[in-house]
Amino acid sequence: MLNAVIIGSGISGLCISALLKKKGLNPIIFEKNNQIGGSFTSISYRGYTLDTGLHLITRGKSGEFPKLLREIFTKEVFSKYFTKQDDYIFHLNDKSSKFPKNLREFFNFKILSPKSRFDLFRLIISILKIGRKNTDKNLKNISSYEFTKKYLKNKDLFFLCNALSWMSTGCSIKEGSLCRFADTIARDKTFSLSYLLNSIKKKSDALEGDFYPIGGLKKIPKLFESLNFEIHKNEEIKKILIRNNKVSGIKTNKTQYKADIVIYTGKVLELKKIASEYKGKFPKNEEYKAITLWLGLNKKIAYFGKNSHIIIKNDESSPLWFMDLTSFDSNLSPKGKQLIGISTILHKDKNLILKDMKQTAGKLMPDYKKYLEMEKVMIDRAEKTLQTYNNPLWDLPEQRTNIKGLYLAGTDTKAFGSGGTMCAGSAYSCINFIEKDFKLLKSN
Ligand SMILES: Cc1cc2nc3c(=O)[nH]c(=O)nc-3n(C[C@H](O)[C@H](O)[C@H](O)COP(=O)(O)OP(=O)(O)OC[C@H]3O[C@@H](n4cnc5c(N)ncnc54)[C@H](O)[C@@H]3O)c2cc1C
Repeated sequence: MLNAVIIGSGISGLCISALLKKKGLNPIIFEKNNQIGGSFTSISYRGYTLDTGLHLITRGKSGEFPKLLREIFTKEVFSKYFTKQDDYIFHLNDKSSKFPKNLREFFNFKILSPKSRFDLFRLIISILKIGRKNTDKNLKNISSYEFTKKYLKNKDLFFLCNALSWMSTGCSIKEGSLCRFADTIARDKTFSLSYLLNSIKKKSDALEGDFYPIGGLKKIPKLFESLNFEIHKNEEIKKILIRNNKVSGIKTNKTQYKADIVIYTGKVLELKKIASEYKGKFPKNEEYKAITLWLGLNKKIAYFGKNSHIIIKNDESSPLWFMDLTSFDSNLSPKGKQLIGISTILHKDKNLILKDMKQTAGKLMPDYKKYLEMEKVMIDRAEKTLQTYNNPLWDLPEQRTNIKGLYLAGTDTKAFGSGGTMCAGSAYSCINFIEKDFKLLKSN
């Protein structure tokens, strides 16, 4: 049997391992840390369960990650292990309104004037058209702003679209690539022009739904662990052994193993440290990070519901994302207490962001400080490279490398979706290459 080694137990490594297992292989996962999950995990802190920042599993119907979860576990995986978010509530200039899921809700999207709502509708239709008709290469080097600015004369609409850009691409609308922005809207196949028009009269939901794992983010790697992989924790791969331009094994901080296939899910920019023979591309931009402030309150004082509250800034900065995790799963905080999370992209001085988070928390939950018993700041990598419009998507490294048997996966190898969706997307395409190169046949 072929020996397959996976470097890293983050969501990319776990997705690939599960797909390889389905093909009849027994992959071995190596993780340098003492726990699995990479950026998809949670810690226990003073009685609260804190995730590595606010997370939702997006694109519940057509996204690669939900698709993979259904394929590997059961079709009912979402009803069994996840809880569905109700809405995204956007806040701008003291007004708030849920993000429209159908045309009827569009008419009530009160954070915008009626004229701006109409402009937003036109903008969505134009992005749908360009996103569905064009491949990524046709949208070459275009910033989201260049394409959308004719609709964005109204400042509030600009601020809203800027917030959507930060949320979907990790950068502002002026830096973000149109490919990725368009993809966010255009890839949801239910969200089409005809669907929108059909949904004028009936109560329909044009969005696919976002999900939170019951028990916290750590439950997702736990679910994968139930597939009984051989996992070596605390074992770092120091060198990928290559003979005649072909993978022959790996060397760790503990010992050496034979391998025919090695899949690397760490940062591609760091691959040269363990495989100097790699001659492929490196991402142009570095990773970007997100910052989260966790607040534990000794009493339930905020009524956010099972929603994400997005506080739009009226400058060009990243919005603040608030969630009451206790509404999603009351076991994440001690009984009768409340766990609030606030995340944003780490795009400016950390202390300025934290000050803003606390001031905004004070507006949404007056006197929250009286009930505050736990506060924790977390900073983690959101994606391994920031894809701006001048860092074209097709300049990402190829997942099949110049070395036979060495493949790459993760958020710096894939252009579409974001976070977990990208990880699963990269896992699927990696498996396609391996299937062709090694003629794997078994599919279950
Ligand atoms: C605050 C925040 C909010 C987010 N929100 C969302 C969200 O709502 N939805 C979403 O889908 N995504 C979200 N993300 C993004 C998501 O968490 C990441 O994109 C995803 O977890 C990346 O997974 P990965 O497996 O590619 O990489 P990682 O999680 O970084 O895993 C790579 C693993 O490889 C290991 N490794 C590296 N080199 C070696 C080596 N030489 N030997 C052994 N092990 C090695 C590392 O230790 C690590 O465990 C968010 C991220 C943050 C920080």
